[in-house]
Amino acid sequence: MSKTETPHLLPRDRPGGPLPPGARGDLHLHSRFSDGTLTPEEIAREAKRAGMHTISLTDHDTMAGVPEARKACREAGVHFISGVELSVGYGNTEIHLLGYGLDSGGRSFRDTLDMLAAEREERMEKMVRRLNTLGVAALIEEVRAGAGGKILSRLHLATYLAKKGFVKSRQEAFTRYIGNGKPAYVRRRRLTLKESIDLIIGAGGLPVLAHPAMTRRDDLIEYLVRLGIRGLEVYYPMHSPGDVARYQKICRRFDLIATGGSDFHGADKPDISIGMASTPPDELEKLLRAL
Ligand code: AMP
Ligand code: MN
Ligand code: MN
Ligand code: MN
Repeated sequence: MSKTETPHLLPRDRPGGPLPPGARGDLHLHSRFSDGTLTPEEIAREAKRAGMHTISLTDHDTMAGVPEARKACREAGVHFISGVELSVGYGNTEIHLLGYGLDSGGRSFRDTLDMLAAEREERMEKMVRRLNTLGVAALIEEVRAGAGGKILSRLHLATYLAKKGFVKSRQEAFTRYIGNGKPAYVRRRRLTLKESIDLIIGAGGLPVLAHPAMTRRDDLIEYLVRLGIRGLEVYYPMHSPGDVARYQKICRRFDLIATGGSDFHGADKPDISIGMASTPPDELEKLLRAL
């Protein structure tokens, strides 16, 4: 948008008012506060350039970037929804839940996020020790320094291993060492489905099942609806047209909001750009009304 144009009114400025035509939202973005490489400011500016009306910052297990992102979005003229991505264990399946519009002020919610961050630290130390016994001379201090923030993820470790030349690519780090079930992989203590959904709802948020075609547990969706999820992330870069059609249908069947997001991580996932997948206007409107 050029400087002379008036920015459209944001929904919060005009409660209940309609969204501008074509308003889309990228509701799945990671910043440096977890395993993304951009700051919230850079994300807000990039989202504006990509034509997004609304974004949500959904860092793994933390809402520490939310105040910065809210401010940056106000300055960039992008509507902002607070968010988080939680990993949940269900048997051998790992399920990712997105929470939208939550208030991080709740004590038990904050304590749980702190516990998850601490647990990620210990788990990273264990993975590095396993790598060491496998003959990979990785150093935990260097992994931490590369990550920068509080939340350590396997993506940080993969990036580090590739940068040091222990593997040829991040992908090789996953397939050879740290992918699920590989020799240096250590499981995290994950929340249960009910715990995480209750946690999101308890913090005033709206729970959404992330990238369902990656999880491949459509059989659980009805149960998740009973536990309180309100949407499915239908629009996602790795979802095929067939996946999208299937999840649109499931959304109609259970009266769920069909959200979308890119799962942007910046330079550490170079094929994904902001807005590559996004929430269409009518669904964005539903979500904003539900918050
Ligand atoms: P963690 O939450 O520490 O288990 O790390 C999971 C993160 O690592 C995900 O959010 C992705 O960013 C990344 N990741 C996991 N598996 C892969 C993979 N096969 N290829 C690339 N990135 C992956
Ligand atoms: Mn990630
Ligand atoms: Mn995920
Ligand atoms: Mn994600």
